[in-house]
Amino acid sequence: MKVSDQILNAETPPISYEIIPPKRGTNIESVFGIVEQLKPHEPPFIDVTSHAAEIYYEEMPDGTVRKHVKRTRPGTLGLCAAIQHRFGIPAVPHLLCQGFTREETEDALIELHYLGIRNVLALRGDDKGFRKPTNNNRSRNDYAEDLVRQIDNMNRGQFLEQLIDAQATDFCVGVAGYPEKHFESPNPTWDVLALKRKVDAGADYIVTQMFFDNRHYFDFVERCREVGITVPIVPGLKIITSKKHLTSLPAFFHLEIPEALAAEVEAADRKNVSAVGIEWARQQAQELLEGGAPALHFYIMQTAKHALQVVEPLRKMA
Ligand code: FAD
Repeated sequence: MKVSDQILNAETPPISYEIIPPKRGTNIESVFGIVEQLKPHEPPFIDVTSHAAEIYYEEMPDGTVRKHVKRTRPGTLGLCAAIQHRFGIPAVPHLLCQGFTREETEDALIELHYLGIRNVLALRGDDKGFRKPTNNNRSRNDYAEDLVRQIDNMNRGQFLEQLIDAQATDFCVGVAGYPEKHFESPNPTWDVLALKRKVDAGADYIVTQMFFDNRHYFDFVERCREVGITVPIVPGLKIITSKKHLTSLPAFFHLEIPEALAAEVEAADRKNVSAVGIEWARQQAQELLEGGAPALHFYIMQTAKHALQVVEPLRKMA
């Protein structure tokens, strides 16, 4: 079922999760273990992140430096197929502009369609130093909006080359939104207008970047509605489980950690930090649902246990 329909038709707000593929050469069983833990909680869907190739440099014994291009975490599509067919849970692969040609994206979408995967999250990705070459008449999507348009075209039976009697795909497309604005946007108004272009290009729903102060989400939803964005806006939640998160999350995701939360985390013993994070997320989740959020999305990445401690009491209340 399409994610947007699941959200719009649900009797109680659905709660979904986002996981990360294992590192190249690592066992998949740990990821299956996470999905096993989530399954009894009937997730409406599980997202799997995508990771573009990165450039790294290796110093050689003769003092020269060798440049490498490597994808550390491949396997998003295969993992989605496994989740959907082995566990019967709809899977949402993330698709990136960054690191892929449009031709590769079309092929990936054809694979997904054959696999029965009907939901994707369309993203630009961050610049990791590697720009996919576009020789031999290949082309590239620069922004998520371009990727959404490509998928929307396929949903109308328009492939990159003109194909006679081409069968239309029927993907439901999600995109990213930023309650604290995307770090490259010059201001919040610019940011929601860029988001509106993604929706106008064919996006069916929005999942937000994580935030720790619900005010950011509620203000963001208001700004989106003011510019005419009508699709569901799902808040993304992350649970702080280590003191390092106080600096790593703002550095990676360009967000604010409220003073009260930062102070509580700082004052806690190392082994009690996750209890602080869980309680904060529980209050955030409850307030978001009371404030009309249509669903919740937890960034759990490699462990389900903390999110499930937030979700279990919420499900009992529902
Ligand atoms: P876009 O919507 O393309 O916007 C990027 C920036 O460009 C914005 O500042 C926007 O204002 C600006 N912009 C847009 N169009 C134009 C234009 N025409 N001209 C000039 N400026 C423009 N990253 C990963 O690598 N893998 C993942 O799996 C992943 N999953 C994510 C899931 C969610 C829910 C979220 C919120 C983010 C995720 N990200 C992921 C991170 C994301 O790739 C980065 O935040 C990236 O920097 C922006 O992606 P976007 O799709 O929002 O980009």
